Order: sequence, then C-alpha cells, then structure tokens
Amino acid sequence: MPRQFFVGGNFKMNPATRDAKVALAKTLNDATLDDSVEVVIAPPSIYLIPLQEVLRKDVKVSAQNCYFKTSGAFTGEISPSMLADSRIPYVILGHSERRTLFHETSVDVAQKTRAAIDAGLSVILCVGETLAQREAGETAKVVQEQLDPVIAALKPQEWSKIVIAYEPVWAIGTGKVATSAQAQEAHADIRTYLSSNVSSEVAESTRIIYGGSVTASNCKELSQQPDVDGFLVGGASLKPEFVNIINAKQ
Ligand code: PGA
Repeated sequence: MPRQFFVGGNFKMNPATRDAKVALAKTLNDATLDDSVEVVIAPPSIYLIPLQEVLRKDVKVSAQNCYFKTSGAFTGEISPSMLADSRIPYVILGHSERRTLFHETSVDVAQKTRAAIDAGLSVILCVGETLAQREAGETAKVVQEQLDPVIAALKPQEWSKIVIAYEPVWAIGTGKVATSAQAQEAHADIRTYLSSNVSSEVAESTRIIYGGSVTASNCKELSQQPDVDGFLVGGASLKPEFVNIINAKQ
C-alpha cells in the first residue's frame, strides 16, 4: 500500500488572535485541496476546539504537546485522554522547541508517546539534529538515539499511529531548507533503522515527513523524493501558500 501523503501545519504560538486563526481556517475551507493528502493543523491548545468546529471535516486538528499522565495535580498540563475526549485525533510530540526550550528528553518524549497511543491518539513524532551535530557527521546517530526510547515503548502494530517528522534543527524557522538530497538521505536512514529495529513492514508503511523552512517554492522538489511522505510546516502554514504545499504533489 502506498503511504498517504501527509501535510501538517504547526502554528506554534501563532498567530496572535482568534480572528486570525479563523481566517486561516477559512482559507483552507475555501481552497481546493488534493483529496489524496491527509491534512492536519496544530493551533495552540486553547484554539483546538473552536477551530475544529469551523474547519472543513477533511482537515484534522492536532495538539502541539501533551503530558503523559491522565489526570491529577499537574498545573498547566493537558492529558492525552483529555485530547481524545475532545475528539482531537493528533498530537505533535518531541518538537525541537520542546526539546530545547522546555528540556524534554527523548525518554520524556517516549513516555508521552506511549500515553498518547494508550489514549487512542495519533502522534507526529519529531526528530532531528542540530547544525553542530550534522557538521560532526552525527545526524543518523542523533536521530536513532531520539527514536530508540520510542521504539522500546511501542509494539510494532502501534507504529500505524505514528508519523515521524524529520526536522533538522538548523532548518527550523531559519529559511535554510535541507536540500532534497539531504532530506532523502535522512529519511532513508530512518526507514532502514526502523526496518532493522522494528520490522520491515513498519519501515515500509510509516510515513516520514520533512520539516524545516518548507515553502511553496521548495516543496515540489522535496515531495518527489521517494522517502519524503509529506511535510510539517511552521511559518508557511500561517500563509495562503500552505494550500500550495498541501497540493505539492499535483
Ligand atoms: P518552519 O517550522 O517551517 O517555520 O521552519 C517547522 C516546524 O517547526 O515544524
């Protein structure tokens, strides 16, 4: 079975107002979207439900983070079961901003992934190296170390609920997109690693999407790489060009 192309929009803590988010939803609602693509947008959590209410039904919403406990005294956190209870189907976990600014380790990310799967959510699992790590030739090793605790936490059949987002840290929000050759190489390495460490079926069926300065002008070439199964888009997901990125394969 071919892997369904996946395009996610990570709004991060943007845009500043509710009206601006509703305007983004309206742009998507009015657009002609490639109906073979799975489209998911991730607004800040307070806007998940209102946006889901106004969005066309073939566009899903995703949280940008969650905690690993179900309930309790964890001020400021949202649990995976609360997301599931609110019919939010996806959560982004392990984004580099969470890892760097909020000190989440790969073990934390695996724990959250386990909890999200237990609650019935699907996970956009982010991995990626820094510039120093790439220059030291450590890209594959860093990504593998980020994946290892997740591999240990999941049963092979649970990988159908995971989309891996390869997002080199040096490309996020910098305007420096990975070349299509760099993206293809990293994605192929991840697939090989899944094949050796989970199963060849999981390696073949798991979607591996690219993130980091994806725009309407660079998405087409990236989308033609055999192991690039879509995108996680930050800045450009807040602009009308997001529609062109969704339609990159057309
Ligand atoms: P960017 O962000 O597209 O603005 O580089 C991507 C991401 O952080 O997911």
